[in-house]
Amino acid sequence: MKKKAELYAGKAKSVYLTDDEDHLIIHFRNDTSAFDGEKVEQLERKGMLNNKFTAFIMQQLETAGIKTHHVKLLSDDEALVRKLEMLPIECVVRNISAGSLCRRLGVTEGLDLEPPTFEFFLKNDALHDPMINDYHIRSFDWATEAEIVEMKKMTFEVNTVLKKLFKDAGMLLVDYKLEFGRFQGQLLLGDEFSPDGCRLWDVDTREKLDKDRFRQGLGGVVEAYEEVAQRLGVNLE
Ligand code: 5GP
Repeated sequence: MKKKAELYAGKAKSVYLTDDEDHLIIHFRNDTSAFDGEKVEQLERKGMLNNKFTAFIMQQLETAGIKTHHVKLLSDDEALVRKLEMLPIECVVRNISAGSLCRRLGVTEGLDLEPPTFEFFLKNDALHDPMINDYHIRSFDWATEAEIVEMKKMTFEVNTVLKKLFKDAGMLLVDYKLEFGRFQGQLLLGDEFSPDGCRLWDVDTREKLDKDRFRQGLGGVVEAYEEVAQRLGVNLE
């Protein structure tokens, strides 16, 4: 499939049209950003790691019956995906308290959340991705009622699959963000799943192995991503 014009450049990925209108190429860049793009750095190997990590996770989810946009890896830092009509919504599930939940509700980091919480956020950098609820989504027609139900169902199915996958590799899946889009009348999981968009802690030491290392200036960001990939058996060759 031929790579054509750039369709969109986000903070860490660029998306290209192809000669097939149903497919896109995603380029995972080394750019790493936090705080709505206020802190930006280039981290060597991160694009490759997130590309291969995302492909591995999407394949695991497909095997478990969860439909995703992923088609195949094209190179170290590029993947072929189905072209979705993305919903402007982020779905977040939290198994353990951390991040904005602690700031918002004044709760301590590290509390087990049973049942896990679910939150919707509007994808809007200028507004700092504000939290929204089902009613906002309906009132502004960001998704249909059926899509709201489906997003919640799929996000929790992902939790069941990935909590176990990470636990078996010695990690706690603290929380994560998913994005969905429409494709030929179906809702598919889009975007990426990598340590950039989830929190992963070592099961014994609770050491952070995700983008919080970058956000909090802890260092060893790429080394942590590599550690996560190695523990899961992701092929980095
Ligand atoms: P929080 O709301 O605590 O900042 O984030 C919850 C989870 O969703 C974390 O795992 C975080 O990495 C992810 N997340 C939330 N918003 C974004 C975003 O805009 N970009 C990325 N990459 N991850 C996000």
